[in-house]
Amino acid sequence: MAEAPGAAWQQDVSVLVIAAHPDDEAIGAGRLLADHVGPVRCVTLTAGERCHGNHADLDGVARKRLREWAEALSVLGVTPVETRRWPDGGLAGHEGEAAEAVASLAAEADVVLAPWRHDPHPDHEAAGRIGAAAARRAGVPLLGYLVWTPYWFPAAEINRRGATLLVQPTSTRAGRLRTEAIARHHSQVRPQHPAIRPVVPSELVDRHERQLLVWEPDDQNA
Ligand SMILES: [Zn+2]
Repeated sequence: MAEAPGAAWQQDVSVLVIAAHPDDEAIGAGRLLADHVGPVRCVTLTAGERCHGNHADLDGVARKRLREWAEALSVLGVTPVETRRWPDGGLAGHEGEAAEAVASLAAEADVVLAPWRHDPHPDHEAAGRIGAAAARRAGVPLLGYLVWTPYWFPAAEINRRGATLLVQPTSTRAGRLRTEAIARHHSQVRPQHPAIRPVVPSELVDRHERQLLVWEPDDQNA
């Protein structure tokens, strides 16, 4: 069985980050990515076009979100990868083809980061399984990051599910850059109507007090 990486993270390796929606990686791994020294590429499997409901202008929302994504990634020093995207809210119906598409990108990296497969959102769960499949196929290790988990669950829930929670030390500067990157997602952090809360509440952003990573031995190749 593979062992959890000792220091959890090596800053000079090449990384592929997988997101289900264009803001996942900034919320869940923003500090890690801001501090990272090696090359980082990011792929989002959906454009997050249904964040304001099914009646919104889905193409318009998708374009806006991908623009915000590219801006946020540039704050973190991450390169966005253009690739095929699957329906927001329906990623679980496309896992095989998504894993195949992502595996070739994973093969060019030293490590894959993906949402934890039990993060409480169906697309995040699917992205976690896709990340695991792609990493296995490419023969590279996988680490999970959290998006909604700290908002809904105590950390003990992660250990209860047989995974290991790792705390990765990050710089003060990385914390500032994460905040700045998340702020670029205007469509998510600002109310779209005075009577409606933002899609991403500030409590969710703030609940991530430290950079956490999840290691699941079952996801690895060995
Ligand atoms: Zn998401």
